[in-house]
Amino acid sequence: MGIKSLDDLLSEGVSGRGVLVRSDLNVPLDDGTITDPGRIIASVPTLKALSDAGAKVVVTAHLGRPKGEPDPKFSLAPVAAALGEKLGRHVQLAGDVVGSDALARAEGLTDGDILLLENIRFDPRETSKDDAGRLKLAKALVELVGDDGAFVSDGFGVVHRKQASVYDVATLLPHYAGKLVAAEVKVLEQLTSAGERPYAVVLGGSKVSDKLAVIENLATKADSLIIGGGMCFTFLAAQGLSVGSSLLEESMIETCRKLLDDYGDVLHLPVDIVVAEKFAADSPAETVAADKIPDDKMGLDIGPESVRRFSALLANAKTIFWNGPMGVFEFPAFAAGTKGVAEAIIGATEKGAFSVVGGGDSAAAVRQLGLAEDGFSHISTGGGASLEYLEGKTLPGIEVLGRPNN
Ligand code: ADP
Ligand code: MG
Repeated sequence: MGIKSLDDLLSEGVSGRGVLVRSDLNVPLDDGTITDPGRIIASVPTLKALSDAGAKVVVTAHLGRPKGEPDPKFSLAPVAAALGEKLGRHVQLAGDVVGSDALARAEGLTDGDILLLENIRFDPRETSKDDAGRLKLAKALVELVGDDGAFVSDGFGVVHRKQASVYDVATLLPHYAGKLVAAEVKVLEQLTSAGERPYAVVLGGSKVSDKLAVIENLATKADSLIIGGGMCFTFLAAQGLSVGSSLLEESMIETCRKLLDDYGDVLHLPVDIVVAEKFAADSPAETVAADKIPDDKMGLDIGPESVRRFSALLANAKTIFWNGPMGVFEFPAFAAGTKGVAEAIIGATEKGAFSVVGGGDSAAAVRQLGLAEDGFSHISTGGGASLEYLEGKTLPGIEVLGRPNN
């Protein structure tokens, strides 16, 4: 797939040209304050390179889930300020998405200027199922960069979405993968094809149903697939064990049983569980064997013996993918499993393994538990996108970049 890169665009020449960039600036906000600027920082290299090269940069992005109309709660204003700070240059914010203010500001750009459009999801056509509607919005975006404009796709967190600013614009303009998208795709390709063995996958998080497709796909590829988190209880139940009041997806038990039958030697389940009476930070914790979970208790973390066994598997791995916390890491009493497994992955990475963390909560866990982010080879900015890639799905925002540029 011949996807053109940002370097290709730079060597074609961008000075004085309008370049539309789709970035992922969807950061968590608490009362207007950005609590984790990770995605803004990850977006800087592409924008800086274009601005340095004298492009007139028009950036489009979303924030949260507004209901297809302007809503001050979801304004990109705090993001524009933070982005300007990280870039070390002024970032203008348009008062609308593709309206008169955006148009006037786009026309007024001089070489190297950066304009951020207001939250693209203020326009209902962005996420519309109606192809014609999306195309209209895409055409309005194209108008902002003019006839000789170009499109750079750098929002990895949204490339699994067939949306106007992700997919449709790329059908209208010469298109290029930004630095972030190129880096993420390279990592995922390395995981799926060129990875060195043994290949260990660690999956956790709350729901089996969310991740069933990825479990099914990776069970055929990985040498070991370690399962923890809330999803392990449906697997334990499939083995005939009683799981008390732990998270359980009854409708998935049969599927889990079949997975255990088919891939029993690849799948690894916890042998001990940290249980508590209720889902609360201060509920007294106790460790029990996985086949001795009391009826009136729920499992909120994997136990220390499970951490030891999982760590031993990870110590030999040469390629590791981790998605989903091993327990309710948000409560300190139930964070040890996630921390232990993360440390084992960092240890393997130090010995030369290639390790990738995907998933919003997993990345948050790394930071919250005080682990070094550079202890992993790569922390993906896109949870959903990386999982869909590993499920073997075609990502519309990547597929479209592989089409011929005209
Ligand atoms: P990611 O965002 O990394 O893909 P998920 O969203 O699938 O991860 O899952 C994260 C959530 O799973 C966390 O909020 C964590 O508290 C929860 N979780 C992990 N283990 C358990 C458990 N045993 N019971 C209930 N929830 C759990
Ligand atoms: Mg999550």
